[in-house]
Amino acid sequence: MIKPEAVAAGNMGKIIDMIIGSGFRIVALKYTRLSHGEAGTFYEVHKERPFYGELVDYMASGPIVAAILEKDNAMEDFRKLIGATDPAQAAEGTIRKAFAESKAKNAVHGSDSDENAAIESEYFFSGRERF
Ligand code: ADP
Ligand code: MG
Repeated sequence: MIKPEAVAAGNMGKIIDMIIGSGFRIVALKYTRLSHGEAGTFYEVHKERPFYGELVDYMASGPIVAAILEKDNAMEDFRKLIGATDPAQAAEGTIRKAFAESKAKNAVHGSDSDENAAIESEYFFSGRERF
């Protein structure tokens, strides 16, 4: 996902370009907005964490871009491309180093396992939206 602040800042094209330039194939792509309830469900794994309320408010605050990406070793390689959660810790050349505003508003989401990638993909896309 490209998160609301990165979309609002006009960075969606640049981020998609970095993703394609890093060897990922776009299987599915959508410009949409999560309701507050949907954002709460999407981040339910973090519901005990102190920043959960802030995170849900933020993720529902504006449109996002959702995508399914394909590549050998996609999950790990995408985590490398996006960089550390906190942009202050993110390596040069990463999406978060280039575009994240803060630890909360950090430009992009990446799935943390192949299993969660499949669950998150189901959440946004039907079979006929995948190519
Ligand atoms: P990642 O997105 O790198 O996988 P996490 O899964 O730990 O990071 O956290 C999910 C999201 O919650 C982060 O991308 C960020 O938007 C937000 N977040 C994480 N830690 C904090 C924090 N300490 N304060 C505010 N927001 C946070
Ligand atoms: Mg995570």
